[in-house]
Amino acid sequence: MILISSCLIGEPVRYDGQHQLKGNLKTLLEKGVAIHACPELLGGLPIPRPPAEIIGGDGFDVLKGHAKVMTQHGEDVTPMYIEGAKRTLALIEKNDIHAVILKANSPSCGSGEIYNGHFDGVKVSGDGVTSALLKQNGIQVYDELNVPDTLWSNCDMI
Ligand code: SF4
Repeated sequence: MILISSCLIGEPVRYDGQHQLKGNLKTLLEKGVAIHACPELLGGLPIPRPPAEIIGGDGFDVLKGHAKVMTQHGEDVTPMYIEGAKRTLALIEKNDIHAVILKANSPSCGSGEIYNGHFDGVKVSGDGVTSALLKQNGIQVYDELNVPDTLWSNCDMI
C-alpha cells in the first residue's frame, strides 16, 4: 500500500483551498493500492489557512526544536505541523504502507527542497516536517516529480 498527499489526488486541502491533482497518482487510489492523507489537516489546521514556511532550518530542525513553522502573518503553527507529522506516521504504521509520495516543496510534505522561510518563492535544500519524521523512521519518501519506475511496475501501471 502507498500513501499519497491528499492534494495530489485532487482533494482541495491546500492552504488556498485548491488541489494539485496528478491523474496518474489518483489512478493508484482508484486501483485500491493507495490511501491519501494531508498532514496539515491531521494536525488540526483549517481550509483555507495562511501560507506557512519553515523559519531557521528544515523539518529535521523543527523536530529538534531548532526551527519553527510560521505563517506569513507571524503565527507560530509549529505544534500543528509536528502533530500532523506524528499522525501521518501513525497512519503509515497502521496501514502497512511501503512507499510514500508527498507533494514537493511543502513545509509539511516537501522532500529534498522547500521554500526558504522568507515567502519570496526561493527554494533551498531541506525536507518538510512530515517528510523529516518519516525519513527519521526509515520510510522512503518520494515526491510527485521523482516517483521511481519500480513503484509504477509494482502497481502494474506499466
Ligand atoms: S502538500 Fe501535504 S500538507 Fe500541504 S495540502 Fe498537500 S497533503 Fe496537505
